[in-house]
Amino acid sequence: MTTHGRPLDSVLDTIGETPLVRVQAAPNDVPVYAKLESFNPGASVKDRIGLYMLEAMLESGELPAGGTVIEPTAGNTGIGFAVAAGQLGVDAVFVVPERFSVEKQTLMDALGAEVINTPTEDGMGGAIQRAHELAEELDDAVVPQQFSNPLNVEAHYELTGPEIHDALDGEVGAVVAGCGTAGTLMGTGRYLREHAPDLHVTAVEPSGSLYSRMLGRDVEEGSYKTEGIGTHDPATNELFDPEFVDDVVQIPDRDTHAEMQRLAREEGQLVASSSAANSLAALDVAERAAAGEIDLPHDCVVTVFPDSSERYLSKGVYGDYEEWEG
Ligand code: PMP
Repeated sequence: MTTHGRPLDSVLDTIGETPLVRVQAAPNDVPVYAKLESFNPGASVKDRIGLYMLEAMLESGELPAGGTVIEPTAGNTGIGFAVAAGQLGVDAVFVVPERFSVEKQTLMDALGAEVINTPTEDGMGGAIQRAHELAEELDDAVVPQQFSNPLNVEAHYELTGPEIHDALDGEVGAVVAGCGTAGTLMGTGRYLREHAPDLHVTAVEPSGSLYSRMLGRDVEEGSYKTEGIGTHDPATNELFDPEFVDDVVQIPDRDTHAEMQRLAREEGQLVASSSAANSLAALDVAERAAAGEIDLPHDCVVTVFPDSSERYLSKGVYGDYEEWEG
């Protein structure tokens, strides 16, 4: 879907270089730009790490040629790895908690991967454990471990950060991104802060998630419908560095749901719940900067829209709030 003006040899050549588009609801004097990651061939931000991590592991020999990649994933990472694995001659197995969207699991299957479900109540922790058990049964398998592998951060440091920096001629004042593994925020933020030491960095999570506890805040745990971001078990989120972020913002599902619908209706953006949560948090940073409540090194806020709403239509994202299944 990316608009490359020349013929390309492989679908892998269409990963990255996604468009950066203005969020229309932002104040004029502090614009917000969103990186539209659904333009990747697997239609999410996770294509970046799928390709980057597999290439790095094949190069280092950690993953033998023709070996197997096994990953616990909420779905998009599986699709990202599956797109790359198919083209790089690697087998792929994904362990997915049942609650995640059926569209994602269907796509992983279509890309030639094997999908194994774990009970919803065991959470990501259960999926991680099962992935390691499976890897032990094979001798050429590797578990990339997106939740702890520095290559996840590095992919965004090497690709997403520079793309944003170049598109805005280095004039980035704040970065705002929802954290699943936190790879997107940490990698992009690290690159951009090297070029603007006072860069304001905001992590986003749904209300009920526990990233805020890592900043010493006493937040209550609860379930949430927003998909792809948040944590119930901060010990698994090894890539998140609480020292690096200025703030963690919690967005209630109800606000996220309304913003998802507003973005479609008013801005033509068919993006999913994590994008909507990012949008609200980024707009808030921009409004506070416009009101002089926070100082940014540049009057410009950047966020990420990680994937498209089309992947969640079966969950009723565009219906009433009560009909939306998380
Ligand atoms: N949004 C969606 C829809 C995702 O699938 C993910 C990845 N889990 C994220 C946001 C968060 O990205 P990261 O893992 O880099 O923090």
